[in-house]
Amino acid sequence: ATPAATMVGSTLGAQNGVLFKGGDVLERAKDVDTVVFDKTGTLTTGEMTLTDVVALEGDRAATDGGDPVTDGGAVATRAPLEGDAVLRLAASAERNSEHPLAQAIVEGAEERGLDLTSPDEFENVPGQGVRAIVEGREVLVGNRRLLEGADVDPAPAADEMERLEREGKTAMLVAVDGAVAGVVADADTVKESSADAVAALQDRGLDVMLITGDNERTARAVAEQVGIDPNNVRAGVLPEDKADAVEDIQSGSRKAMMVGDGVNDAPALAVAYVGTAIGSGTDVAIEAADVTLMRDDPLDVVKAIRISEATLDKIK
Ligand code: ADP
Ligand code: MG
Repeated sequence: ATPAATMVGSTLGAQNGVLFKGGDVLERAKDVDTVVFDKTGTLTTGEMTLTDVVALEGDRAATDGGDPVTDGGAVATRAPLEGDAVLRLAASAERNSEHPLAQAIVEGAEERGLDLTSPDEFENVPGQGVRAIVEGREVLVGNRRLLEGADVDPAPAADEMERLEREGKTAMLVAVDGAVAGVVADADTVKESSADAVAALQDRGLDVMLITGDNERTARAVAEQVGIDPNNVRAGVLPEDKADAVEDIQSGSRKAMMVGDGVNDAPALAVAYVGTAIGSGTDVAIEAADVTLMRDDPLDVVKAIRISEATLDKIK
């Protein structure tokens, strides 16, 4: 774009809370044919609340650490953990994590009056969950991949996980000392204007997609709420794989705008034809992006594209 066009577009953008990083992107935005939305914090508010705590029953569940009762003289069986005990261990393990999922678990536990302790060891596993030592016990909180990576079988919790995910919740496994002990779930709210933004983009003939580290079932439940085709959902994408996923989408002649808010979206924003950071996004995301939407409103994605069109029309 000419310096004059850049000026007009930038000013129009700024008035609408849409910041373009220079004339090039102002020109490119109108050519986008695909918009890829991150889920958490972008199409949803990202404000998680703890909704469910399930303690598993039966001999495969982890135990409360009480005296082992010998069964038949050979196999030791112990009583499974109660819901409060599962939640207390999970929340103590999550105390050092800044992830919104973790914060909701900690707040939920505190609201229930549980006494949390600080973990003796703590490890964050990006895109999977946390591993911690709490009161001498090894606690894992996260997705199936986290447990499988630690050789813990998530199967005993499969039914509960599926049930919660079908409700659109993010269900997390809690394992204690090498066995799955329960499930906790957080729920997030879809932003008010997400469905309108998706519809407006589709009306303009754009393909709208959803990409998330969250699992398939939860991702599809959210996609359905906002009007994204289930075939356009890329779920279970690890943070380091988000950029590859966007490159894959663009491997034909597609020109994609990636819209995201988080640190883990930054590489994907950087490889997209247009990278757009939304609202309260992290500094890292804003730095990697070509466009920053000052408000938290997905409808501003439509505005960004329209401003690009309008600006370039005017100077022709
Ligand atoms: P998103 O792409 O939706 O922003 P992430 O890539 O941060 O999500 O995480 C992907 C998945 O990994 C989450 O849906 C959750 O199952 C699991 N996870 C990540 N961090 C945590 C955590 N601190 N506690 C529990 N589970 C976690
Ligand atoms: Mg996000």
